[in-house]
Amino acid sequence: MQLDDTLENYMRKTADFHGCFMKAPGIVIGCHMVEYALELIGEPRGALNAVTETRVCLSDCIQVMTGCTLGNKHLKLADNLGRYALTLYDRDSGEGVRVYLDLSKIDATRHPELHSFHLRQRAPLVLTDMDFRKKSGTKVVKEFLEARREVLSWQRVKVAYARKDPMDPSVPCTVCGEPFLKKTREPGPCPACDGAAYYQVLTSEGP
Ligand SMILES: [Zn+2]
Repeated sequence: MQLDDTLENYMRKTADFHGCFMKAPGIVIGCHMVEYALELIGEPRGALNAVTETRVCLSDCIQVMTGCTLGNKHLKLADNLGRYALTLYDRDSGEGVRVYLDLSKIDATRHPELHSFHLRQRAPLVLTDMDFRKKSGTKVVKEFLEARREVLSWQRVKVAYARKDPMDPSVPCTVCGEPFLKKTREPGPCPACDGAAYYQVLTSEGP
């Protein structure tokens, strides 16, 4: 598929959306990965869908460059996999292409910072010292831009997701009363009231 804009502009747009500077490693690498996947997939007959195997910057690169978002459900989150990879596929056929940052193609001698970035083994100072982080990031980007597609790999894949997510009914919780998405209309407590709440109520409005 053709990009509507230059890669440079897409990196700028993604950085704005993500709220970081344009030459952040995740933005540069992620946008190159999406560009590659779009090129490899050609022109799908059905709607373009995407899967991201990690959150970080990559998911924002996908959302900005392909228009597949979490909200419109064209982007699926498979971040339980935790790999630096994305898949773009045709929703009708399920066929697509998976692109990943390939550790086996990153020469640790030639591109040491990119190698440690991929393994999250950069010096611990990247977490606390912003100046150090920026310098390291610049090195990662420089090394990546020397290699670009030489360190990316791809696979043709067939995605197992259903063409469309089933539309679950919304049923009022028998405890809190808030409607929640449930597989059946049978009454019951919502997961939050059933022990899976991610918060504790401190104060509530009202009497
Ligand atoms: Zn409830």
